[in-house]
Amino acid sequence: MTKNYSRYPNQYPDSTGHFGDYGGSYIPPELQVEMDKITDAYLHICKTHKFIEELRSIRKHYQGRPTPVFHADRLSQLCGGAQIYLKREDLNHTGAHKLNHCMGEALLAKYLGKKKLIAETGAGQHGVAMATAAAYFGIKCEIHMGEVDIVKEAPNVIRMKLLGATVVPVSFGLKTLKEAVDSAFQAYLRDPITSIYCIGSVVGPHPFPMMVRDFQAVVGIESREQFLDMTGELPDVVCACVGGGSNAMGIFSGFINDPVKLVGVEPGGRSLNLGDHAATAAFGKPGIIHGFKCYLLQDEKGEPAAVYSIASGLDYPGVGPEHSLMKDDGRISYEIANDIEALDGFYTLGRVEGIIPALESAHAVAYSMKLAKEMGHGSILVNLSGRGDKDLDFVTETYGFNLDEAKKSLL
Ligand SMILES: *Cc1c(COP(=O)(O)O)cnc(C)c1O
Repeated sequence: MTKNYSRYPNQYPDSTGHFGDYGGSYIPPELQVEMDKITDAYLHICKTHKFIEELRSIRKHYQGRPTPVFHADRLSQLCGGAQIYLKREDLNHTGAHKLNHCMGEALLAKYLGKKKLIAETGAGQHGVAMATAAAYFGIKCEIHMGEVDIVKEAPNVIRMKLLGATVVPVSFGLKTLKEAVDSAFQAYLRDPITSIYCIGSVVGPHPFPMMVRDFQAVVGIESREQFLDMTGELPDVVCACVGGGSNAMGIFSGFINDPVKLVGVEPGGRSLNLGDHAATAAFGKPGIIHGFKCYLLQDEKGEPAAVYSIASGLDYPGVGPEHSLMKDDGRISYEIANDIEALDGFYTLGRVEGIIPALESAHAVAYSMKLAKEMGHGSILVNLSGRGDKDLDFVTETYGFNLDEAKKSLL
């Protein structure tokens, strides 16, 4: 490790919201006024005893934290090498890590007296988590979602509606996550005083990348302690899938100062041609999207490129600014798992351990399976960011019930 992170996490971002060159805030002045208010309020409120205690109580009594770390013994044997451990964020209430930052954001909204939460969603997981948080606090909720994802992730749309949220279909562009963010931003701009925009990952203008990381840091803090308790050592490698990068930044933040290799796993999609994947840190160039600077997959005009992944929650052309910095620093490495490998992880974890992962998390599982074999010994801690219930219909109808069927369906 070349760089000194001894002041982490307070080291980043700086007071202007920058992580090195990345992050910042590239937004209209009227929105900047509101973001500054949110930043000031957050920096003050998050340090108060009352806020900390309320969030701690919610995590324990409502979300069911701490989530366990599980030694995936049979999966490790199957791979024949390093021991694989899973941080079970699939067991967090609503079935993914996202509720960690949604409860934090909604609690902040309550302290700020906001009446409505506005959010975007890709896989529907952020929408469900947001709608859950809104119901918990008795605040209105409006979720923007691309029409393609509405069809693909129908069970989550039903959940959001049952939780009392309004789902706004987004019908422009590719009708997926990027357009949903655009649409939610526009809605927030129309009403920034009584509503608050709650972004779904460590992306967007300052203070969101910082705030979401801080709320997700519980994953890293818990799993470091749990892993030490279980094994007496730190893991050799910690890996997590990266869309915007919140579950990854959450678990990585617990190990930044440790001699532990951190690997973000990006979606390789159906090929490595632009448009067929969403491997942003691997193939992007610095650019601006949704009010912040980061590695960005761009078309020849420098606009955010069309991206694709089998996992709706990973198909975003940008990536968090902190990931962008840590890629340049060499503190976090980025690897790729493609659709077929993710399906292998999805089917295998179900059969071998009785845990059906979200397609997003299956990318990290697939990478750990490959890496375990290569390493031969040692240990890998995987952030299992969510459960696969939302993907069951889509996977079985499109690809069948095992990897052989899936490969045939792709011929
Ligand atoms: C949304 C989602 C992701 C991707 O988001 P990050 O911000 O990159 O963590 C990963 N896994 C699951 C289960 C998700 O719902």
